[in-house]
Amino acid sequence: NTSQPRLPSFLKTKIPTGASFSKIKQDLRGLKLHTVCEEARCPNIGDCWGGSDKSKATATIMLMGDTCTRGCRFCSVKTSKTPPPLDIHEPEHTAEAVSRWGLGYIVLTSVDRDDLPDGGAEHFASTIRKIKYKAPNILVEALTGDFAGNLDHVALVARSGLDVYAHNVETVEELTPFVRDRRATFRQSLSVLAKAKAEGVRVTKTSMMLGVGENEAQVMDALKALREADVDVVTFGQYMRPTKRHMKVHRYVEPEEFERWKKIAEDMGFLYVASGPLVRSSYKAGEFFIENVLR
Ligand code: SF4
Ligand code: SF4
Repeated sequence: NTSQPRLPSFLKTKIPTGASFSKIKQDLRGLKLHTVCEEARCPNIGDCWGGSDKSKATATIMLMGDTCTRGCRFCSVKTSKTPPPLDIHEPEHTAEAVSRWGLGYIVLTSVDRDDLPDGGAEHFASTIRKIKYKAPNILVEALTGDFAGNLDHVALVARSGLDVYAHNVETVEELTPFVRDRRATFRQSLSVLAKAKAEGVRVTKTSMMLGVGENEAQVMDALKALREADVDVVTFGQYMRPTKRHMKVHRYVEPEEFERWKKIAEDMGFLYVASGPLVRSSYKAGEFFIENVLR
């Protein structure tokens, strides 16, 4: 598509390498875990799974199937009003596999399941409780949807024993209707994050994509609103268009601009800010949280 800006060199994908990466990948065989890292061919896999210390490695695992009841304009996950039913053995199986794998930091995420009476909250919570029972030292982050604004469902997950509650606003308030599924709103997402904090979660976290058409004032307003909701951690990454059927990239943001947002957000009091073209919400989360926040 000729109206798309050209892909700058700093976004050309790195080839993952490193002894620890190959070792972790080998371990994964036979565990039957669906990692977003592998399935989305995330360019950060070498950084998240690599490094010298497996106990600080991070991986993201997808729960509740591969079919979402929503259709966001940036997302390549498939959509259906009636996804297949939940696998009732998934919480136990995931906990067993995660505890055998032995990584330090696990992000659990899922598609949105508006078809389920509780949005999948109990399934999420049960998976976390089982992981913590089998392997209390593994830090667990839940990256959830907005549970259609039902704060009781948010509370159920928030009280499951997790370490970090993440929910992504994805973009500024003004662009939310053009970027996310129409059932999602920026304010609803803020209420999810505020509720998790009110339930006593130590760290709350959100992510935004840059390059979808936002302006500086809108990003500033979003950051202010996030601080008001007591959100601790924010990450910024470049929006990358998964296929031609998805919304266009408005622009590629320079690494210097990501650096600037990092500085601004840190000055506003966020505990931690990850910001860069290839940063994703879970980018090297383990390394950071284990060293600086949670231990
Ligand atoms: Fe996996 Fe997230 Fe790291 Fe990518 S950024 S490798 S999805 S943990
Ligand atoms: Fe993708 Fe999440 Fe939107 Fe579903 S709710 S379409 S998984 S971004």
